[in-house]
Amino acid sequence: MSTTLAFRDSPYAHEQTATVTAVGSDGVVVTDSTIFYPHGGGQPGDSGVFVTADGREIPVEDTRKGEAGAVHHHLAADHGLAVGDVVTQRLDWSRRYAHMRMHTALHLLAVAIPHGVTGGSIGAERGRLDFDLGEVTLDKAEVAAQLTALVDADHPVFSEWISDAELDASPALVRTMSVAPPRGAGEIRMVRIGDVDYQPCGGTHVASTVEVGALRVASIKNRGARNRRVTLVWDETPEEQS
Ligand SMILES: [Zn+2]
Repeated sequence: MSTTLAFRDSPYAHEQTATVTAVGSDGVVVTDSTIFYPHGGGQPGDSGVFVTADGREIPVEDTRKGEAGAVHHHLAADHGLAVGDVVTQRLDWSRRYAHMRMHTALHLLAVAIPHGVTGGSIGAERGRLDFDLGEVTLDKAEVAAQLTALVDADHPVFSEWISDAELDASPALVRTMSVAPPRGAGEIRMVRIGDVDYQPCGGTHVASTVEVGALRVASIKNRGARNRRVTLVWDETPEEQS
């Protein structure tokens, strides 16, 4: 049974009730709806707790995509939950909020560096994108200044759904996107950041770029002849060697 992805419309919800719809092996629990983001698109799966009706707190160690639209919450194998049980889902909010801030920051990094992205990863402490830059050289201070300007501009962040048909009807739309949208699913979730970024994305973001906060470009490293890895950290994180 598929799981309603409540985090999509309500990325700031850190608690909700849900009903257990399936219990798998190795501690996997599926619910009818979830605020837990499943690992994907470079963003880690959420952790937190499920609270039972009698007040028992069961840690959720990880969240992954299952088959047929189900979201798999990974709990300790002795969780004791059964189909039909109602639980209160409570996120490790400080970790997830850091993911939302860093995820949004990486969208902005790709605006500041308008070249092909070949990989990336989001963490609560740091995030990185790999760019296919060829001969282009990057200056750490320059990239940092552009990022800070994008954050400080207080651009609103929206998500919206468009259909494949709408996309086909407006080829101009595709040209404004920084990433080509996947076709064939019928509907595509698009994320818009002010007038600076528009691309397909299923992740969780903050509502305004100003929430990203102060960042530093920790390092710019060579990853082969054409690729550069740009790593961002929060401004309060200690310096690292580049
Ligand atoms: Zn995104």
